[in-house]
Amino acid sequence: MPIAPELRRKVEQLLKEGLTDLAVYRQTGVSRRTAARYRKALGLPGTFTRADDPACRRAGHPFPENLGRNGKGHLTCMACRRIRHRNAARAAYVPVEPDEMSIERAVDGDPPDYFTPRERHAAIDRLDKRGLSAAEISMLLRCSKRTVHYARRKRRVSA
Ligand SMILES: [Zn+2]
Repeated sequence: MPIAPELRRKVEQLLKEGLTDLAVYRQTGVSRRTAARYRKALGLPGTFTRADDPACRRAGHPFPENLGRNGKGHLTCMACRRIRHRNAARAAYVPVEPDEMSIERAVDGDPPDYFTPRERHAAIDRLDKRGLSAAEISMLLRCSKRTVHYARRKRRVSA
C-alpha cells in the first residue's frame, strides 16, 4: 500500500530536523527501512558514525580522539556517550533515606549487616535519650566507642 503524501512529507520533515530512522519510526510508525529510503532520496547522511568522519555528527567532538565502539561494536562518539551516561545517572539519582526498620532493629540490639553511617548515628541518638553509656551503646550497635563519641560530638556541633 503506498504511503499517504502528508505522512511522507512529515517523515521528510523529521529527517531534515536530524532525527534518526528509529526516532522517525517511533513518532510516525513508518518503518526504519522506508525512512532510510526517503533519507537517501533527500541526500541526507546517515546517523551512524563512520570511521572517516572528521568529527562527531551530533555535537562536533573531534575524531579520532573521541571515536570508540559501543557494546554492539558500532563506532560511536565517546564524548557524547559520557554526556549521555552522566545525564542518565543524574536522572536516576535518588538520595538515600535512612531505613526506619534498620534503626529500630539496631536500637533493640540487632543491627543489620548493611547499616549506613546515617542510620547508625540516628540509632546512637535514640539510645542516648535512654541514658545509655557509650560502652553500652557500642555493644548494642556493634560499633566502637569512638563512633559513639563522634556522633555525640557531631550532634553538639550541629545543635
Ligand atoms: Zn559527540
